[in-house]
Order: sequence, then C-alpha cells, then structure tokens
Amino acid sequence: MRKTIIAGNWKMNKTVSETKEFLNELLPMIKDVNANVIIATPFTSLTVASELTKNSIVKIAAQNMGNRLKGAYTGEISPLMLKDIDVNYVIIGHSERREYYGDTDFHVNEKVKLALETKLIPILCIGEKLEEREANETKNVVKTQIVEGLKDVSKEDAKNVVIAYEPVWAIGTGKTATPEMAQDVHKYIRDLLADMYGQEVSDEISILYGGSMKPENVVELLNESDIDGGLIGGASLEAKSFAKLIEAGK
Ligand code: 13P
Repeated sequence: MRKTIIAGNWKMNKTVSETKEFLNELLPMIKDVNANVIIATPFTSLTVASELTKNSIVKIAAQNMGNRLKGAYTGEISPLMLKDIDVNYVIIGHSERREYYGDTDFHVNEKVKLALETKLIPILCIGEKLEEREANETKNVVKTQIVEGLKDVSKEDAKNVVIAYEPVWAIGTGKTATPEMAQDVHKYIRDLLADMYGQEVSDEISILYGGSMKPENVVELLNESDIDGGLIGGASLEAKSFAKLIEAGK
C-alpha cells in the first residue's frame, strides 16, 4: 500500500525568519494528523527547518543538489552536506531547473544515482511543456525523462525513488490538469515503471502530481488510483492552506 505524500516546494521563497514563522504556525495545526509531509525549503533554511521539525511528521527536502560528493565545485551543495543536517529528500530535475539552469536528463540521472548512493530519497520531476502536449508528445516526453533519469538505477534502488509528474503548463498558472488527464499520465508512468522494474516495484513507487494543486482541487486529484500525493508550490507557502492539503492527504 503506497503512502500518500504531501510535499511543499517553496522554490526561492522564505528567509530563515519566515521559515521559523511558518513552521511555528503549521506544526500545531497538524499535531494530530498522521500523514507523510515533506517541505523543500531553500538551502539557507534547511538547518532551521530540520531542527524545528525533528519531533514532527514533517520531513525536510532540498530543492536540488550537486552531482559530486566533494571538491572544487564552486557554488554546489553535496548530498553529504544535506545528510549532515538531517535532510531526507531531494527534488531533482524540477522543470524550472531544466528550463532556466540547463539541467539535462544526463545531470538529472547523475544526481538521482548519487542521491540514492548517499541514502537521500530523490523526488524525480518530469512533465511536458504546453507545446509538447498540444503536439500529442506528452507520453514520449515523460518516457524519455523517466528512462534517462533512472538509467542504471537498480530494481532495489528504484523502490526508493519518488516520481513527481508536473505538467509544465500547469505550474504556477492556476491551470490544473483535470483528474482524468493526470490519472492517464500517472497510469502510463506506472506501466512504464512496471516494464522497467516489474509490477511489484512499480506498485511501491509513489507518483505525485504537481501543478496548481490547492485545497479546492486536492481531494479529486488524490481520489485517482495512481495519484499518490502532491508536490505543491504556491499553496504550500501559506501555513493554513498547506495544512488543508495535509489534512486531505492523510
Ligand atoms: P504550483 O503549485 O505553484 O503550480 O507549483 C508546482 C510546482 O512546481 C511544485 O514543484
């Protein structure tokens, strides 16, 4: 039985003091909730976030990481540095990184493998752009991103990967994929993972939906059999709305 995961991706938002303020408001609201909650903060907030959430249901994620363990790589953060401050998850291959910072499937694959090696759980993001959907290319795009992103990842390791399907045209636009549209792609991803790793492994992998998920649409999306949770941007920035999403995901 797959766990529902409600994950917030703050992107480039919140200072350390805003992070403390948010968590001090959120944590009492979800004290009695039994859910799998992840918050991906900016690097500068990771330490305080992992300290403040230590005795809670919230796990902390980074939004990216370097592709080496250590050395002369100016500006990069090693997965070992993330482990050292009790970070458990790392978002890899978000479309904003692919679009603005040149992350390719090759980089994504390097990072996924390194995350697994260092026992961080990678949240591998995939998804098509509007023109790709309009050209009926959605499934091809998603297939390439998964096959390349998980290249040389063993069956044993694949169980520890989380996939996030985020159609690029739905991110930050207020346009959500309908539950049917999202389920159609999630099912395709599930079948692809079954081809790659066998049905048993595929059934264990959580596939999250991302793209304008909010309290108003979360329930119908989570009702779909292959949607195992959400990766939420805008609606995760405000404690009250994020608490509502968590409530829906329990
Ligand atoms: P929004 O929820 O703001 O559309 O962002 C989704 C996203 O990119 C999460 O990673």
